[in-house]
Amino acid sequence: MSRAVHARGGAPRVRSTATIYVGGPAGPPQVKIGSVTDCLFCGIAAGDIPATRVLESPRTIAFRDINPQAPVHVLVIPREHYPDLAALAQADDGLLDEVAAQAHLVAAEAGVAETGYRVVFNTGPQAGQTVQHAHAHVLGGRALGWPPG
Ligand code: AMP
Ligand code: ZN
Repeated sequence: MSRAVHARGGAPRVRSTATIYVGGPAGPPQVKIGSVTDCLFCGIAAGDIPATRVLESPRTIAFRDINPQAPVHVLVIPREHYPDLAALAQADDGLLDEVAAQAHLVAAEAGVAETGYRVVFNTGPQAGQTVQHAHAHVLGGRALGWPPG
């Protein structure tokens, strides 16, 4: 039996009628939904919510974080909805590779690839994930402390 990994109870609400089933390596298969109506980043991907885009590819979008924590703070998202890194990693079609490659391109185009940058996937409540659509933070342009808070 399938389950919707993003569902907050009840039937998943979808903008798209396309539902793609993705088999996980363990446990029950997970359902990936192309676009989720109450998802902020699906809204940005669809162009319904404004964002300052800095880079795009067929399957990814990079846009400036609305509350930047460094001189360079860009988010890279898959256009399709995956709730977090765990789901994106299970996509098993190279999409996570593309997100990582886009993160590097963002850093290079922002001029911080040489000085150094950080790529972060906050995953789950203790890591402070607030938007349940997988995204990579690309941070740079200042010295970044370690360990992070
Ligand atoms: P996280 O806390 O890791 O889930 O990251 C979510 C990020 O999304 C935060 O850094 C927010 O500042 C950012 N964010 C929230 N709303 C928007 C928006 N409308 N446009 C751009 N970034 C946003
Ligand atoms: Zn989404």
